[in-house]
Amino acid sequence: MSLLKLEGLTASYGSSQALFGVDLEIAEGEVVALMGRNGMGKTTTVKAICRMIQSGGHLSLEGRDLHPLPSHRVARLGVGLVPEGRRCFAGLTVHENLIAAARPGDWTQARVTALFPRLGERLSQRAASLSGGEQQMLAIGRALMTNPRLLILDEATEGLAPIVRQEIWAAIAALKRDTQISILLIDKSVREIAGVSDRAVIVERGRTVWAGAMADLTPDLSERYVGV
Ligand code: ATP
Repeated sequence: MSLLKLEGLTASYGSSQALFGVDLEIAEGEVVALMGRNGMGKTTTVKAICRMIQSGGHLSLEGRDLHPLPSHRVARLGVGLVPEGRRCFAGLTVHENLIAAARPGDWTQARVTALFPRLGERLSQRAASLSGGEQQMLAIGRALMTNPRLLILDEATEGLAPIVRQEIWAAIAALKRDTQISILLIDKSVREIAGVSDRAVIVERGRTVWAGAMADLTPDLSERYVGV
């Protein structure tokens, strides 16, 4: 059974419909890239999964309908979101940020700082004083501290220096290699995404237009739907 399943997912912002039929499945331990040009519905799909926006169609986690649930219940069922714009508590230290997110499980502060050693060196520093890349690591660390079964990374490397982006891609690769966590990835770096993802789902104007193994995503398809 899929861990996450979306079928014919629809969603609107007021009277403006943004999703018209998104189909997407993620199995346990799978890394799936959600791709598509700007404004095609990727972030809206993520908001629907996390119940931050009302949606219609099928939306389930391990067969359980998520539609009746508020977002904090979806989080507690094991969906960890790293939203666009890396949100941390700016006035809290790195340690306090991590601890505030913690739920029982394998992910502890020690494990997060092993994945991101920079965070370990800055545990008593306020989040506001971190670089953009370090804040992004902290945002991912916070999501991991909730011990999610599904980690959603929405533009996790956006606007970061190349060296920091590499560190984040290496961490994602380590998660894929060493854990059973499922990952839904949205990112503009198609080459890096291709390196870590098992499958891709492409949306265009709020609809899934292609889904398949990453290896089957030809340059032609990429150019047609993603613009690279
Ligand atoms: P990007 O890569 O630019 O973030 P995206 O694929 O994530 O794009 P969405 O942000 O999901 O796209 O946007 C899908 C559609 O919904 C777009 O037409 C967008 O203008 C619209 N939209 C997004 N957020 C809102 C909002 N808060 N209110 C109204 N319309 C919105």
